[in-house]
Amino acid sequence: MGQGARGMQLRCQGIAVSFGANSSRVQALRDIGFETRPNEFLSIVGPSGCGKTTLLRTLAGLIPPEQGAVQHISTNGSDAGRILLVRQENSLFPWMTVLENATFGMEVQGIPRDARRDRALPILQRFGLGGRENDYPHHLSLGMKQRVAVAACFLSNPAMLLMDEPFAALDCQTRLLLQQELLELWEQDHKSVVFVTHDVDEAILLSDRVLVLSRQPGTIVSDIPIRFARPRSANSMLMPEFVSLKRRIYQELGMVPASMEVTA
Ligand code: ATP
Repeated sequence: MGQGARGMQLRCQGIAVSFGANSSRVQALRDIGFETRPNEFLSIVGPSGCGKTTLLRTLAGLIPPEQGAVQHISTNGSDAGRILLVRQENSLFPWMTVLENATFGMEVQGIPRDARRDRALPILQRFGLGGRENDYPHHLSLGMKQRVAVAACFLSNPAMLLMDEPFAALDCQTRLLLQQELLELWEQDHKSVVFVTHDVDEAILLSDRVLVLSRQPGTIVSDIPIRFARPRSANSMLMPEFVSLKRRIYQELGMVPASMEVTA
């Protein structure tokens, strides 16, 4: 997309988050510390309820941690730029068309209408939404809505994208298609992304690095670099390196019984 994006890194140290008080207090996160790297696609995986969404919302500044701190660091000397958080569903404005939703971020930045349209139409076309620009979200399938949401967040060109299981509600085939589309879009400018998922295949396919969270209260139990070649595709999932990484992450998540553990 090459719109001169500002760069951002996140640094968090000793993050703890709890909800409620006294007997109803729930500790969601404990002693979370990590730093994103420039232009990195970082995924966070963990079991249901381990605090993935809470962590993403804390990184976005929507939840103040009770301990620790999150720093937003500029990587090019100017201000750190915007963070955009994409949720699992309902990220679109129902009263706006596909094109209006896709270009809203650019409109807020004061980009003229014709320029917004010129940037958005090829991306919408590429995402299989050609001819649907004037439809409203309620005319679209769930997969189409998520396509618009992903296209919109890349078009708005934030310094950092936080994505909370954007494909969780999709069927397997649509999910694979959207993962491929996200990979292709990301390859264009390597935007910094923190991506939450409970799907280990998805995390390995998309990422440069995977953080594994423990059960509640979530804390980082493993930091795994994903080094195999890009560009990647669904075929990458059949490679021995992929399977070996998957096995390792399953072990970290406690999903492989000890009797089946492999050291390779
Ligand atoms: P899932 O994979 O199922 O989406 P998750 O890993 O994203 O779950 P969170 O949604 O972050 O987990 O929740 C972590 C814990 O914090 C859970 O026990 C949840 O019930 C609790 N929690 C989250 N938000 C709140 C809230 N606003 N008030 C009270 N408890 C909350």
